[in-house]
Amino acid sequence: MNANSNIEISVVVPTFNEEGNVALLASELKTVLDQLQISAYEIIFIDDGSSDASLEVIKGLRATDRRIHYLQFSRNFGHQHALKAGLDHARGRAVISLDADLQHPPALLSEMITLWRNGAQVVYTRRQDKQQIGLFKKWSAKLFYWIANKLSEVPIEEGTADFRLLDRCVVDAIKGFKESHLFLRGLIPTLGFKQVGIDYQAASRHSGQTKYSFGKMFQFALNGITSSSAKPLYFSIYLGLFFAFCAFIYGCYAIYVALFTNAAITGWASLIASVLFIGGIQMILIGIVGIYLGKLFVQSKQRPTYIIESNSIQAIQHHEA
Ligand code: UDP
Ligand code: MG
Repeated sequence: MNANSNIEISVVVPTFNEEGNVALLASELKTVLDQLQISAYEIIFIDDGSSDASLEVIKGLRATDRRIHYLQFSRNFGHQHALKAGLDHARGRAVISLDADLQHPPALLSEMITLWRNGAQVVYTRRQDKQQIGLFKKWSAKLFYWIANKLSEVPIEEGTADFRLLDRCVVDAIKGFKESHLFLRGLIPTLGFKQVGIDYQAASRHSGQTKYSFGKMFQFALNGITSSSAKPLYFSIYLGLFFAFCAFIYGCYAIYVALFTNAAITGWASLIASVLFIGGIQMILIGIVGIYLGKLFVQSKQRPTYIIESNSIQAIQHHEA
């Protein structure tokens, strides 16, 4: 615990090419936080290697308001690492994370903070879909949560995003996780603590483009699933058993055809088809093993998960027990 911090709320915003959004977001956040009469707060923008003027805009905001801080990454490390950096550097007694593009309405902060003041330690949010979210995004997200929940021991609620409030004790717990492939959405529900969910209507992106292309979303989903569960590794056993059983039945049929009918063995096509099919399945399974092996490899190097080039805020030094 950082006992000497008198900052009540830290707001953490991963920012990647959001020059058109940061100023408006900062002013909306300030309005909400001032209305709530928060004694002291800080807004930390994590510039995740933006190539536009995001950082200059943030520095400009900081020139007029010292409660605004920035962390500049040396390159793009990704949303989850930007979030982790924000949690590592935040000093508040509660930390709220939200996206820079105003899809996460700052107005919801008052409800979150009220719940926190009433004892909640995690306030997470559930997105209620509206048309603004593309049909494709909506259905791919649904599919992801369905698969992820089939595979993991602790369910992840559908529609949860990285828009949440965490009490200081939860933030300190997360800091202890040295995972190189962090997936906070899968991790936080497993932590325990007093967790409360609230619903909100997602707004549409204020300015700029989404940073999650289909490829990135697929990667994110794969990372999410393989970060929170080892079950995909066991697939091979069931699939292997299933195909061995099919092969056995087919073998019996082939013997029957050879012995009791006059039809000669004509079908090399079916043979090739089944060989290719099983070959494909094997490659998928080797790929799954490969993903876990790759993660072990990266983790074993113990590299820092992000590099800060410049910042306006120093990480609090913790004395490890
Ligand atoms: N973001 C980031 N690094 C990245 C990609 C995204 O920090 O590599 C930030 C981005 O600036 C935004 C948030 O993560 O604040 C969510 O990104 P986006 O709005 O593009 O995702 P979507 O809402 O489309 O899922
Ligand atoms: Mg967005």
